[in-house]
Amino acid sequence: MTSYFKSFIFLSSIFCVVSCKSQTIIVDTQEKNSLIINDTTFVNLKEYSQDFEYDMKYATDDNFLKAKVYDCAECFLRLKTVKGLLKANAKFAQKGYKIKIYDCYRPLDIQKKMWEIVPNPKYVANPAKGSIHNRGGAVDISLVTLQGEAVDMGTDFDFFGIEASHNYTNVSYEVKLNRKLLKSTMIKSGFNSFDSEWWHYNLKSGINDKVSNSKWDCK
Ligand SMILES: [Zn+2]
Repeated sequence: MTSYFKSFIFLSSIFCVVSCKSQTIIVDTQEKNSLIINDTTFVNLKEYSQDFEYDMKYATDDNFLKAKVYDCAECFLRLKTVKGLLKANAKFAQKGYKIKIYDCYRPLDIQKKMWEIVPNPKYVANPAKGSIHNRGGAVDISLVTLQGEAVDMGTDFDFFGIEASHNYTNVSYEVKLNRKLLKSTMIKSGFNSFDSEWWHYNLKSGINDKVSNSKWDCK
């Protein structure tokens, strides 16, 4: 065996350990106990808490794209993002609320699919750059009461207009309070808000992680 060929095999096996491992974690969560989980590992939120409400809009065609872009609804995120959400949800629970999830980690292929449908950076992040959703550090959320009743945030999720902005003041007192509660609690839990979308939150350190295209299994 030539030394060139030996080093090729060595590098290939390293590549497989790195890429196959991350793929395994996200595809087969059953194996998670046998793998080392760290803060940047992709995990499924539902395996860490049953106290969230889900309304995964992109796994249906009830969204601004009018297209179902996920084969099934799952909320995968980096573990550190899940930890931040658990912290926030515990704070909301003390006030009689819980988080409703609209979207979590979004594999890069899904971002490309969305960009093909709506190639407008005002509404969809350009997959050439990738967004924090593609890095596993962003969530789209709202609040419901602990009994599951809707909380008025003034507009629907993915309403693209000035009315969805945190800076828009022509909303009712109740909506102002609800948005403020959502924003202040998320900021205290390690997230940044996004001015033009009341529902979008980025984990502060989420920008440091790589864009990913790992996918989960739909069973
Ligand atoms: Zn978002």
